[in-house]
Amino acid sequence: MRKPAVWVVEDERAISSALEILLQHAGYDVRVFARGADFFAAFASFQPDLILLDLNLPDIDGLDVCRAARDLAAYIPILMLTARNEPVDKLIGFEAGADIYLIKPYDPRELLAQIKAIFRLIERHGQSQAEGGARRPTELPLTNGPLMMWDLRRRVELNGQPLDLSPKEYDLLKILLRHPGRVFGRETLLRLVWGYEFTGDSRTVDVHVQRLRQKLEADPSQPRVLLTVRGVGYKLAAQDEDA
Ligand code: CA
Repeated sequence: MRKPAVWVVEDERAISSALEILLQHAGYDVRVFARGADFFAAFASFQPDLILLDLNLPDIDGLDVCRAARDLAAYIPILMLTARNEPVDKLIGFEAGADIYLIKPYDPRELLAQIKAIFRLIERHGQSQAEGGARRPTELPLTNGPLMMWDLRRRVELNGQPLDLSPKEYDLLKILLRHPGRVFGRETLLRLVWGYEFTGDSRTVDVHVQRLRQKLEADPSQPRVLLTVRGVGYKLAAQDEDA
């Protein structure tokens, strides 16, 4: 059986060596790139199963590497590793297409657990298209409890049943689903979903939240999924908050 290929894009030798040893030991086929340009040179002829990406690279911004990898490949999970820890940067990282975002210094055991979880998810949700033909990468869904989203296909399922969402409902849910438990102000959601040129007011957000609740909640008048945070905005109840 082929070992999963994990590529590390990281210019700090001490970090990349430690990652290389950790990942090789865990049974992965590891390659290390110190520069974004070296990564893209190799990426042109082979696509790995997972990418660990440092945000601060000497030649190319890690966010641009992330975006470009997303544009070039059908789907590859990307874990972004960074010393930046401002929440706004995290958001940008996710919007650039990172699946998981770890702040340095991170616990190597947590990193390994995240990687294993990603491969398990892919295995579980990937239709086994192994027999013949080209290897087709399977998109990792965003999940929160019974809610799942495959962004490349713009598909959302609740308890395994597809949800029919309008484009704005979808975009709104995507932001909330990327950060379960995080509170978003109405203005922030307005900017992220409708853009800076939008001239309406933040009640637009409320209207779309109401519509989403009609589709997501067992009882839309008693929301348990898409919660109002009084005086602030909205959040998606993280799966483990329900317990
Ligand atoms: Ca770096």
